[in-house]
Amino acid sequence: MKGHDAAVDALRALIRIPTVSDWDPAREDRSAFEALLAELRERFPRLHAACEVERIGGDALLVRWPGRTREAPVVLMAHLDVVPVGEASAWTHPPFAGDLADGHVWGRGALDCKGSLVATCQAVEDLIEDGVTPGRDVWLSFGCNEEVSGRAAQDAVAVLRERGVEPWFVLDEGGAIVQGALPGVDAPMAVVGVSEKGTVDVELIARGDGGHASAPRRMGPTSRLARAILRLERKPFPSHLPDATLDMLERAGSHARMPYAVAFRHARRLRPVLSRVLPQLGHETAAMARTTVAVTQLSGSPGANVIAATARAHVNMRVMVGETVDGAVARIRSTIKDPHVEVVVVSGNEPSPVSPTDDAAYALLESTLRDVFPGTVAVPYVMLAATDSRHFHRVWPRVYRFTPFRMTAAQRASIHGADERIGIDDLRDGVAWYRRLIEQL
Ligand SMILES: [Zn+2]
Repeated sequence: MKGHDAAVDALRALIRIPTVSDWDPAREDRSAFEALLAELRERFPRLHAACEVERIGGDALLVRWPGRTREAPVVLMAHLDVVPVGEASAWTHPPFAGDLADGHVWGRGALDCKGSLVATCQAVEDLIEDGVTPGRDVWLSFGCNEEVSGRAAQDAVAVLRERGVEPWFVLDEGGAIVQGALPGVDAPMAVVGVSEKGTVDVELIARGDGGHASAPRRMGPTSRLARAILRLERKPFPSHLPDATLDMLERAGSHARMPYAVAFRHARRLRPVLSRVLPQLGHETAAMARTTVAVTQLSGSPGANVIAATARAHVNMRVMVGETVDGAVARIRSTIKDPHVEVVVVSGNEPSPVSPTDDAAYALLESTLRDVFPGTVAVPYVMLAATDSRHFHRVWPRVYRFTPFRMTAAQRASIHGADERIGIDDLRDGVAWYRRLIEQL
């Protein structure tokens, strides 16, 4: 069976193998990853015969499909692991059944990221069957611990560097083909991530004497911590628009209705106004325009009648492109303005550089989009979430984050949520997009 229905069957088979990654690798089911790799060998035999396939860093795959020339290669990425399902009863179809219903394949990983894993492999498999050899080497890098910020992608980068590989560009999961993402734009937009925000995890710690809850003192550790959290909430980071976001608005401008068309086309001149307006439009547009601060975990005393001697809050920040981890930490210190609240940095990743949108690599993605999804407008954007490709972006300049599937708002919400699903036509068009991309390399 060739092509498109093979992709649907392969995706259903991969969803049935619960490759859930965990922050503690000891709690991962190694046999599931083993089974997934075996399933890939079964479903994509030509890929495994014609390409050099190796396992790195445990269960990750690094694949080289030799091309006709020594031109700089291209790296296509996806990941094999998925996030847990949460409340399984919230799902319309069981999360690991791979059901085919209402024109969709249902299950954890359908979009993130087994869909693009299958679409990539199917495109390669079909091209090999048709006797096609790519114009340059194509590398496939499939990590096994993306969802828990594991090391697989760093290992892949290390291996590629060791072998002197200098990719022309790298393509990983990221933006999709969406509708209604920008006000005033009716056409579907393919949003291509050209950068991603940084992340900082910080612990806030307030200490005191503790003691019995029957005789509390004023401003104990819990009150002090609460005051610090409220200060952070009341004084958000200043908003500003990075160049990549202006680029997005300008490109969308020629496809927007009035009055948006004018505002977007003159985005550069209107930067100060837009920087003020975007945060007012909702929490998602606010996140596009500033470093965000989320208090995600709180802890106090272990007993209901015990005053906390130590109160802690975990803060997860997403650092705007153009800012730094150190700058973000310094700012929350000065906002909290309390020497008795310790600010301890747990981990930090700087924002990514910004990939170019004015050269041949981006133009190739754009023209491939026009070919396979006519009427779709390609725009660059800054991703809010982190992907494995940030490790590639530290070393190589052209890293694009795009998943070639149409996704409704409900589907986007299903990623890491309930009822994750992909339309079978969308999976088929995704296969066609990877195929067209590889044909033109
Ligand atoms: Zn993912």
